[in-house]
Amino acid sequence: MDSSSPCARDADRYEGFREAVWAWSVPIARGRRPGSVVGVLDELEVQARWFGGEYGRSFTGTEGERIEVVQFGHWNRAAGPDFTEAAVKVNGELRRGSIEVDLDVRNWDRHGHSGNVAFNDTVLHLFIDQPALNRVFTRTESHGNVVQLLLPQYAGLQGPPDFLPEAFPGRCLAPLAGMEAAEVESLLLAASQYRLRRKSERLHVMSEATTREQALFQGVAEALGFRHNKSAMAILAQRCPVRELLAMEPGDREARLFGAAGFLEAGPAEPARTPEAQAYRRKLWDHWWKMRPEVETSPLRSIRWRSDSTRPLNHPQRRLGALAALLGQWEDLLDLWEKPVNNFPKAVNNWSKSLHHPYWERHYSLASETTPKPFRLLGKDRLRDLLGNVVFPVAIRVSADRWGDYTRLGGVDTNQKLRRAALRLFGNDRERQKLFTRYYHQQQGLLQIYDDFCLEDASDCHHCRFPEQLRQWRQINRPASRVGLKLDAR
Ligand code: SF4
Repeated sequence: MDSSSPCARDADRYEGFREAVWAWSVPIARGRRPGSVVGVLDELEVQARWFGGEYGRSFTGTEGERIEVVQFGHWNRAAGPDFTEAAVKVNGELRRGSIEVDLDVRNWDRHGHSGNVAFNDTVLHLFIDQPALNRVFTRTESHGNVVQLLLPQYAGLQGPPDFLPEAFPGRCLAPLAGMEAAEVESLLLAASQYRLRRKSERLHVMSEATTREQALFQGVAEALGFRHNKSAMAILAQRCPVRELLAMEPGDREARLFGAAGFLEAGPAEPARTPEAQAYRRKLWDHWWKMRPEVETSPLRSIRWRSDSTRPLNHPQRRLGALAALLGQWEDLLDLWEKPVNNFPKAVNNWSKSLHHPYWERHYSLASETTPKPFRLLGKDRLRDLLGNVVFPVAIRVSADRWGDYTRLGGVDTNQKLRRAALRLFGNDRERQKLFTRYYHQQQGLLQIYDDFCLEDASDCHHCRFPEQLRQWRQINRPASRVGLKLDAR
């Protein structure tokens, strides 16, 4: 995003506001309260964020060492350290070997790595938690001392963990109700620009750890996995790099995705209910068994998918079917970013209509009945999330002009998080809730405020400085809001 563009300036204004509020906030002892990040994040998720480059590649170790990741290595498919064939520089000295990721530094001993020869070549031990008082070292079976690195409990560009605080009208309800619609809109607009910029930065940082194309592929996969299978999709995208998939013929490519996801395992799979489902699964298996020995992952490292609390159309297997179809039109998607297009959202919508799959347009899962009518592989909300999380964050980096297109995107159907955010900020005033959640950017702005303040608050609003600071926001931003807002004109 061009730092001199109006879009970047609004994002800066929100960032300044956010920092001013946070300067007063009482820090939450993360990892110590119920629902904290340590309880929410699992090891696989931290591994995926690490390997995706979200934490960056330059660090300071627990002993003050300068650490530079030269190569992130490969996901280990078998027992042993999590990543093999990695290369890191420690105080300028190049070391090659494995990397192990744990939630807690003590897990190295608890999991028996200190007595396991398979961990002797570990060059870096990563963790996100450690005891407050005792110093715990990482020793190998051969008495080597492994360099340690404490990672932040969540990657700064990822945002806080996704849990839901209580649903009640917040203390900021009254000051927000006293603000003109244009003022509230200006706040949401700036917050949404800030959110878009962070998404753009995250993809950029991920590009630097891998390649731009691989970062985009992971971003697309995550958007398809939203909400419960975002991490599962990220891991799958990392284990099946996009260039390897594109080099395969479509049947192999699809089988590789479903096999690596663990959906073709011989275990207690749900029996296929129709001859079509049986035939499709057999076809995938016929491709998969040939490549299986080279790419299959040990059950210990299997990806965990969630299909509970999801509508049948959002079943993870169906989303994976959409990803397979999308790879068939991958070059066209890349073109949308690279080439000038008049109506960007319309062009993306047309591209999404070109996605077809004879099985996944009429099935919810590998076992399901055939549906009476076909369904689009990417529904309206899925497409909107793809636009908001990947397509626009990349496009805005290429051209700040895309911001206008972004503000015209209609909102998605409200989900639980959005409903809670609207209730907290606008109370039970349905009209105001509707007015400020009609557009996608408003919803994103609302979610950003919710992430920044509601998720960071542990005092049922009592200590949150957001309500008081709103007065200052109004004073500083009034002139801009008068100039920039055309709330009723859209
Ligand atoms: S925590 Fe802060 S921003 Fe969230 S509802 Fe309460 S007062 Fe409003």
